[in-house]
Amino acid sequence: MPSEFDLIARFFTRPAPNAVLGVGDDAALLAISPGMELAVSTDMLVSGQHFFPDIDPYLLGHKTLAVNLSDLAAMGATPRWATLSLALPAAEVDWLEVFSRGLFDMAARFDVSLVGGDTTRGPLNLNVTILGEVPAGQALRRSGARVGDDIWVSGDLGGAALGLRHLLGEANLADADEIEACLTRLHAPEPRVALGRALLGVAHAAIDISDGLLADLGHILACSETGAEIEFARLPAHPAVAARLPHRLMQRCLLAGGDDYELCFTAAPERAHVVLAAAASAGVHVTRIGRITGEPGLRVHAADGSVMRVQESGFDHFAG
Ligand code: ADP
Ligand code: MG
Repeated sequence: MPSEFDLIARFFTRPAPNAVLGVGDDAALLAISPGMELAVSTDMLVSGQHFFPDIDPYLLGHKTLAVNLSDLAAMGATPRWATLSLALPAAEVDWLEVFSRGLFDMAARFDVSLVGGDTTRGPLNLNVTILGEVPAGQALRRSGARVGDDIWVSGDLGGAALGLRHLLGEANLADADEIEACLTRLHAPEPRVALGRALLGVAHAAIDISDGLLADLGHILACSETGAEIEFARLPAHPAVAARLPHRLMQRCLLAGGDDYELCFTAAPERAHVVLAAAASAGVHVTRIGRITGEPGLRVHAADGSVMRVQESGFDHFAG
């Protein structure tokens, strides 16, 4: 049975080129680049709550880092370092081997150094703290939306939620390619780091869509003290969701489904061409879905112009 220190040495100690000092001492040492602010975010993934206990450990490694990278993307920050705190029921080396590969593959893709963490026995629970840099004073905040701004979202929405519904037996997907596409959205989200960076100086406000469009856009509205109107027909639905609209479950996946990790952001209408250029440079599709208003509240307009009744506000761990 390997010791805690064997596990750390074997699975979580890799060269940390971004750090002055990485794993192995009482603290890591990091040097921040001149003129930059440190962006820090932490996200916990709990077995049974955020993932099924039998999930492929490679995908879990991917997702554990991806959801944290997504938070930095939403700030326009460049990820640089991460720590990993891990509670494990047992030291299963095969599981750890695959999990750490998923994590480090993601870290390599985004040039993140794992610089520390903590390892303990307990119910499976993963906590990453991610640190990144953003030019001082320029981070994209939730509070920056202005009346008249366009509202944009990246990629497409609802696929992850539909994948989850499928696993729960609540959506009868039959096509193997479609199931695969939705489960990829659920288990292997792609954090929009390049887009977030490209939107610095362009977007006024941004958030990543982890709990559902309505809920997360709602955070921008609350922080910015504004309202919004969005047009349902403009929403970029994941193809599997789009194919089944206007089915009610699909509407819910689109408006309130979590786990997509796309960015929702606002920008001045006259900057639309700059937004499109930023998205093109990041290799991501973006769609204008509505605009910020002075009247409080979030209204969703149907294609015929009527206001849709939507209560679904997204995912809240403590609700209901
Ligand atoms: P301490 O007792 O001082 O907290 P630990 O024995 O917990 O130190 O950890 C030893 C070293 O290994 C530290 O540098 C710590 O940051 C690192 N570490 C522990 N667990 C992990 C992990 N899961 N991933 C990366 N680094 C880890
Ligand atoms: Mg420790």
